[in-house]
Amino acid sequence: DAGVTAAETHRPDLILMDLYMPGCTGWELACVIRQQSEFLSIPIVLLSGETNVDRQLSAMSLGGDDFLTKPIDPSHLVSSVHSRIKRARKIRSNMLHDGLSGLLNHSTTKERLGQELERAKRHNSLFSFAMIDLDTFKAVNDTYGHPTGDRVIKSLARLLKQRVRNTDIVGRFGGEEFAVIFLDTKPEEAARILDKMRLGFSKIEHHHKEVVFTKTFSCGVSSFPQFSDPGAINDAADQALYRAKEEGRNRVVLIE
Ligand code: GH3
Ligand code: MG
Ligand code: MG
Repeated sequence: DAGVTAAETHRPDLILMDLYMPGCTGWELACVIRQQSEFLSIPIVLLSGETNVDRQLSAMSLGGDDFLTKPIDPSHLVSSVHSRIKRARKIRSNMLHDGLSGLLNHSTTKERLGQELERAKRHNSLFSFAMIDLDTFKAVNDTYGHPTGDRVIKSLARLLKQRVRNTDIVGRFGGEEFAVIFLDTKPEEAARILDKMRLGFSKIEHHHKEVVFTKTFSCGVSSFPQFSDPGAINDAADQALYRAKEEGRNRVVLIE
């Protein structure tokens, strides 16, 4: 129990523990820690004088990732821990981000929307939520091929990331769809920022061999507290985006 509490309060990068401890064994604790979803990706390294390979393997099958045998040279221990933390961070980052754009992926973006909503409720603050969708994007793939389409997606991702504040949240919501959470920002203000981005993006020249072309996006904006749960905020932005498409694309529409 103390072990689990310690993990919760300290949020460690890695857990290094002895196989035999007073009260419980390392594999019992590893097993309990692993049952909690937030600790799924924490590397657990068991340290022990246990040289029995069968026992080592059974400890690992219960949730330990790795085994280090005592006695261990201190510098070897440090470098083992270092390399495992580095790898775990990389894996964790890959879990949160989208590979093509480097932005937050769909599930992480949704999670952040939920978290920011709770935070805004607690602090009586507000935020805006934007859904962005590239216009007639299928035509890019059909005309110039998928790799060129991917480059257009990346250029929009880069522009969004550059133009928002560091604290704002940008995610790739789907194929050619993006979401931005503007913290402490009124919807009218978010729409103004987005409209500048829209104009900026529409001027970026994309290249395919000797052909130069431009693309546009449409955008729908909703906000908290006008909409007060994640589903409603998302639906409202989606609805505004739909209207932006209907009204002719290449525009930002604020939900009424
Ligand atoms: P609209 O203006 O109505 O949004 O038209 P659209 O052509 O953008 O809409 P539609 O949803 O029909 O097409 C989206 C296209 O985006 C279809 C799909 O081939 C393409 N797409 C989705 N994900 C990716 C991706 O990762 N890379 C590339 N190159 N294309 C993608
Ligand atoms: Mg589209
Ligand atoms: Mg789309």
